[in-house]
This record gives sequence, structure tokens and C-alpha cells, in this order.
Amino acid sequence: MGRTGICRLCGETRKLTLEHVPPEAAYNDKKVFYEMLSDAVNGRNLRNVPRKLGVTHLCEPCNSTTGGKYGNAFVNWARQGMEYLDKIVDKKPINLKFNIEPLKVIKQAYVMCMALGSSETVNTDAELKKVLLNFEERLLNPKYRVYVYLNSAGGSPRLASEAAVGRTDLGATVFVLAEVALPPFGYVILKAEYDGDLIAKHQQLCDISHFSNFQYGEKAEIFLTLPILETHEPFPLDYRSKEEIYNRVPENQFTMGSTL
Ligand SMILES: [Zn+2]
Repeated sequence: MGRTGICRLCGETRKLTLEHVPPEAAYNDKKVFYEMLSDAVNGRNLRNVPRKLGVTHLCEPCNSTTGGKYGNAFVNWARQGMEYLDKIVDKKPINLKFNIEPLKVIKQAYVMCMALGSSETVNTDAELKKVLLNFEERLLNPKYRVYVYLNSAGGSPRLASEAAVGRTDLGATVFVLAEVALPPFGYVILKAEYDGDLIAKHQQLCDISHFSNFQYGEKAEIFLTLPILETHEPFPLDYRSKEEIYNRVPENQFTMGSTL
């Protein structure tokens, strides 16, 4: 397996390897049924084919070095999330305590986001790439904001990238750089702008962008108020239940354009 292409992180033309998104040890070790946004948009019906959740967009050195630097901290954070998710009975947002290394967690979220980049020329944020490959560096002026939610079991995993999402009820449109959902967590990375924040707040997504302010290796006790959201469709920011999708509600409130 593997093909040669431009690595989405280092930009070099190399043999590309499968990058698990999320990392394999963060509950992503089985083949699953899912449809990527790019499959849906391009009419490739792969919903009924069990596949590894990930993309072949990073070279082996980028894949293994980012995994080595951020992976353990990310898995540790996912384990804490899964322990909470297993105990939750209510669907209301819940305030939870985490003991984590915040910078590594958010940098792994950014790695997933860059890995999902659909084409070899889309990831143009050179500063973000540099910071992700210089492990101790922090991203001081991010163009994006990172949001998290608890992703309830029983839905479909979501891998989506580079889509414009509009909410006519809010009069807002936002560019979604990436969304990744697999229990216990979902991650949404949005262009930092007023509309994005409006839509994120409407969905009660938890903003973790401040994780970037921590030092590399710094541990912290952090409280986050997380919503519990289900994902069934490949479209970013769509948390409708099966019933709502079946009844086409709220069809008039959700539109999507994609750049793919
Ligand atoms: Zn690379």
C-alpha cells in the first residue's frame, strides 16, 4: 500500500502512508462504516464498505514523528473522554475535569486537520505547518479556532474537510477547515471569524483554542463544558438526530456548499 504524493505537512514529494484520523490508539483501531464528505460530494458510495478511518496524505516521517510527539498525550485525553462518555445518561452539556497536556492535544487536532486536506495544494497555511513540525512551538496567531464536543455512540464517524456551511436561520456562513468525529470526541476547526463563533455557540461547541497558550509538556487541570452530539451524515456541523434527518428537519436551516 502507499503511493507517492505531496505530504500535506512537510510539503515534500514522498511515499505517503495511511494516517489514522484520529490516531489508532485513540479508539480508532477497527474498520468502520463511514462516508467522507469528499465521497458524498463526488457521488462515491462507500457507506457500506468497512474501512480504516483515516487518509493517505502524510509521509512516513511526518506521520510517525507527530504521532511520537503528540500521540500519547492525545490518547490520554481520549481515554478520559471515553470514561466520561460511558457514564453519561443525559444529553445536556456537561462540565468535566481533564488532566492533560493541552498543547499536545490541540496540535494533534491540527495535524488531523492538515492530514485531511483534500488536495495537495489546499493547505497553504505555512505557519501552521511549521509550528506542527517544530514540536515545542506554539501557534500564537491562529487563523482558525478549534472546538470540541462529546460524540455519542451509535452514529457514524465523520471525516470532513474544506466546506462552507450556511445557517439561514442564523444568517451565518462559515468555512470549516475540518471536522473529525469518532467517540469519544468530535473536533471542528473553523476559520476564526464572527460567523464561525456564532454557529459554534449555537451548537454549544466547546472552544479549546486556548490550549495553544500552554507550553510543550506542560500539564494542566482543565474544566470544559461539553455538549453531547450525534453524527449521522458526512456534512460538517450537522448534529441532527436520525428522526430529524428522516423528517427533513430543519431543511430550511441548513445548507452546504463544498469546495471539493
Ligand atoms: Zn511529510
